[in-house]
Amino acid sequence: MSEDTIFSKIIRREIPADIVYEDDLCLAFRDITPQAPTHILVIPKKPIPKLSQAQVEDKALLGHLMFAVSEVARQEKLDHGYRVVINTGEDGGQTVFHLHLHLLGGRSLGWPPG
Ligand code: AMP
Repeated sequence: MSEDTIFSKIIRREIPADIVYEDDLCLAFRDITPQAPTHILVIPKKPIPKLSQAQVEDKALLGHLMFAVSEVARQEKLDHGYRVVINTGEDGGQTVFHLHLHLLGGRSLGWPPG
């Protein structure tokens, strides 16, 4: 069983968020502490805690999330490019244990990340 997180509360509209995209499987909203001019989180409505806990039955959902990110990037007019990041577990720097894809853009991004 996964724990209830702040992102589940956003899905249930129990706390506010700046939602930019929604469909039957996922939700996208602006990060509260943006690390780039555009910083959006895309999350599945299904509360998968982290990528490493995704199951074989989640394969189609993972593909759906990736496509949704590209849709949001188009919507946000990130025509010069962007980065998609999934922080996973302690070493990955994950702080909210509800799978999420960071969409970062609107400036030139450095590499490698810290
Ligand atoms: P991570 O460190 O990969 O787990 O990313 C969690 C992200 O969630 C961080 O970038 C936070 O700024 C963001 N975040 C936390 N709480 C909220 C919230 N209430 N609304 C929007 N973004 C949030």
